[in-house]
Amino acid sequence: MKDRTFTADAEPGDHATVAGWVHEVRDLGGIAFLILRDKTGKIQVKFEKDEMDDELVETGINVQRESVVQVTGDVEEEERAPTGVEVTPDSIEVMAEADPQLPLDPSGKVDADLSTRLDNRTLDARKPETKAIFEIRAEVLRAVREYFRSVGSTEINTPKIVATGTEGGTELFPVTYFGEEAFMNQSPQLFKQLMVGSGLERVFEVGPIFRAEEHNTPRHLNEATMIDFESAFIDHEEAMDVCEGTLKAAYSAVEENCQEELELLGLADEFEAPSGDFPRLTYEEAIERINATGELDEQLVWGDDLPTEGEKALGDDVGGHYFVTDWPSEIKPFYIQDYDDDSELSKGFDLMHPRMELVSGGQREHRYDALVEGFKQQGLDPDQFEYYTKMFKYGMPPHAGWAYGVERLVMTMLDLDNIREAVLFPRDRQRLSP
Ligand code: ATP
Ligand code: MG
Repeated sequence: MKDRTFTADAEPGDHATVAGWVHEVRDLGGIAFLILRDKTGKIQVKFEKDEMDDELVETGINVQRESVVQVTGDVEEEERAPTGVEVTPDSIEVMAEADPQLPLDPSGKVDADLSTRLDNRTLDARKPETKAIFEIRAEVLRAVREYFRSVGSTEINTPKIVATGTEGGTELFPVTYFGEEAFMNQSPQLFKQLMVGSGLERVFEVGPIFRAEEHNTPRHLNEATMIDFESAFIDHEEAMDVCEGTLKAAYSAVEENCQEELELLGLADEFEAPSGDFPRLTYEEAIERINATGELDEQLVWGDDLPTEGEKALGDDVGGHYFVTDWPSEIKPFYIQDYDDDSELSKGFDLMHPRMELVSGGQREHRYDALVEGFKQQGLDPDQFEYYTKMFKYGMPPHAGWAYGVERLVMTMLDLDNIREAVLFPRDRQRLSP
């Protein structure tokens, strides 16, 4: 629409055309108001029954809520209007009439449960609070991309249909690829590593990952969006620096550019971009601190993965983002490098939000022989991964990297209860449509 004015830009004195959804119609007898809503806000349209064309008035006061309309008229100052201005229309066109039976009330007056909201995301995302989450998510991704560019990283896109998974056969969704078995990729891990050995050296990707995890939790999806980073000639410590920088860049951008959205979500006062260096606890320190909280029924011992309650207890104890480093090799994947002087100890790390894990990363094994040995130790057949291991024979630099879950980043940033709030169309055990 060439001559459309957003409601937020309509100024007194303009003759403007606004377009959007009918938020509500209030008929007060001699006078009626139609509140029109668009992506920038709302504006009041005034109908004076005695002074205006009957057909115009009829159209304006009988249109169903959530219909799409276009209104042209004079914009005037009006103190009593919600935004201080109102439109006196000389024409109104109903572009799409809405059914009077709405499955969900976008004005938010009637609450809907999450499942109804997800079934009707289009209507749900007309609510300013829902829309705010996705505006912030977009800002996070924008800021992350900008940050990556500032540290000389090149955006790549790698295949999502693959012949083998990243970490073997579990948790993979099979698909049929021209009669052959293939899988939806569970991580770009191997591809991004192949690219640090290319002339690109330092790469990132924002893309979907697919995991056939059977559990149903508030922090797992079966299709998620991952932010992956990988760079040649850095170690795990430097990879953590970039990881921390990325997170801070995302928070700062939201703080700077999304005040309105934060307000809608009731977070404007408390929202704060993290400052200061994130503590880096070794795995050993982490389990000691968890044990010391006394929150777990059974004490953790070396080699245990950190249970959810343990992560929570430690998160409460630390009180902010922190890294856990120096994990036991046996609970980290084969592509993570071990310390030279202790093969039981890996250079893997996780970045934690007090509520949950956000990132896993590490220094990678770039030495061909050690890599192939790692495959065997984890019970994987190196031949199946020949496309990957082979490239380690032709000059693979030392490298490190990590991966974020975008939905977890947004969920923890905005203190959402359920990860499904942070994705438009979640894929989980119950949901394949829409
Ligand atoms: P968790 O132990 O919490 O299930 P993970 O260790 O299996 O996660 P990684 O393989 O380390 O996950 O993936 C890197 C990041 O991607 C995680 O830290 C998390 O932020 C995100 N992520 C992984 N799996 C999921 C999922 N099923 N749903 C949403 N995000 C996920
Ligand atoms: Mg992990």
